[in-house]
Amino acid sequence: MADTPRVVFAGLASCFGCQINITNIEEHLMDVLGQVDLKYWQLTSSDPMPTDFDVAVIEGAVTTEAAKESVQALREGADAVITIGACAATSGIPGMSTEDHAADMDAVYGDKVPYVVADGAITPMAVKDVISVDFEVPCCPIDPYDFVEVLQHALYGSNIYRRSSTLCGECKNNERGCFYGRNTLCLGLVTRSGCGARCPNLGRPCNGCAGLSPDANVAQARRVADRAGVGAAALDSALRIFNQPIADEEVS
Ligand code: SF4
Ligand code: SF4
Ligand code: SF4
Repeated sequence: MADTPRVVFAGLASCFGCQINITNIEEHLMDVLGQVDLKYWQLTSSDPMPTDFDVAVIEGAVTTEAAKESVQALREGADAVITIGACAATSGIPGMSTEDHAADMDAVYGDKVPYVVADGAITPMAVKDVISVDFEVPCCPIDPYDFVEVLQHALYGSNIYRRSSTLCGECKNNERGCFYGRNTLCLGLVTRSGCGARCPNLGRPCNGCAGLSPDANVAQARRVADRAGVGAAALDSALRIFNQPIADEEVS
């Protein structure tokens, strides 16, 4: 890695909301930018991506052959790859497309498919399903402070592991009660902790944007949903928002 690490930001299929969220912490961002050489930020530039860099930050899902080649090139060039957001981590919102991706595009765009979408379109994939990823910032959108922390890990190293437990432990600490007691679906049962149970704490059920916890017991969660009168089918359906490929494996 260069003395001042060279960082590039790339956006794939996404709403760019995660990149925008990073700009929302200007005062801290200036400290971070003092530690890196920001070579390229796709959100702010139409220039071609430089070929020399140390850290690649990737937002969005891989939805075209061209995007696949781009992430492979980013992996080859970077000492560290960081993905930001659910679209990159699990294929997120683009991943809601079914296996019949062409039919889905037809339903959404009709005969007006944008060329960037149509050209070499593939079934949406998470970045980690195309290349190895070193660090991941979860959620939709990301918490920008999580990004700063993960970037520090990438630049300076860390022996801190990401938590693997489900969200319910964090939620219990907030002492807000459980949605299932009110016959309401919540994906915190199977979602990876780390956000502090932000949504239940604001009175909204978790929709699983942090991705499935490695400790998740989806079969048991389905039973809980059935017992609460919510129904396993509703849980399966909700899982498909942010965990489409995993949901297909886990709940079949
Ligand atoms: S994870 Fe959410 S906020 Fe981030 S790019 Fe995807 S849709 Fe947008
Ligand atoms: S409200 Fe959701 S996150 Fe909180 S304990 Fe219940 S299932 Fe878990
Ligand atoms: S509570 Fe669930 S949906 Fe809300 S930010 Fe956390 S993981 Fe995402």
